[in-house]
Amino acid sequence: MALDLAVQNLLRTNELKQINFTMAGIRVSGHGYWQLSNCFSDHPIRHRIRITVRANLVGPRAQAVYAPDIDKIHLRSLTVLNTLAGRAAVVHECTHAQLDLRAVHTPIRAEEGAAFIAEAWYYLACGQAAALGASDIPADIANIATDLRNRSSQNTGRPAALTATQINLARAVMRGFGYQNGHYQSDGIRGHRYRGR
Ligand SMILES: [Zn+2]
Repeated sequence: MALDLAVQNLLRTNELKQINFTMAGIRVSGHGYWQLSNCFSDHPIRHRIRITVRANLVGPRAQAVYAPDIDKIHLRSLTVLNTLAGRAAVVHECTHAQLDLRAVHTPIRAEEGAAFIAEAWYYLACGQAAALGASDIPADIANIATDLRNRSSQNTGRPAALTATQINLARAVMRGFGYQNGHYQSDGIRGHRYRGR
């Protein structure tokens, strides 16, 4: 299957549909991943996110990277989606893409925190808490994802909001990862913007 359609299928799975949280001005939701899934296609479409396999553009410890200025996902290899960790990494990058689609300017450390929380939530949604514990994702992020998932499951359809303490903790973890102060620029996918829930 074309990589475009494989990512589209991932974004439409039940595991992604359950992700639903807010972090100050940032919203990450299953609806948002579904909207994003419409930007993937194996033929030319107007608002398209392209996928390339370019190991040289992916960081030494990463499986994938999203480039918001050119609306592209670069993958380390053709087989990234074959492993749980690889799919979780693509969920992380698609969280950046969802925020680009929403065209919200976000503090870098907050957006990275949100992307890692979504990545951790994906492990939990797959029933892989032990694999999450053994992954590179810090325990603080895993704990926040676990709490948000528990709260949102009792809260049908409404996003769980990170507490101020959780936001500060997530930002501190991202500072520890070396992410700079500053903002990401999000401008939609080829001008297309999603304003919904
Ligand atoms: Zn990231």
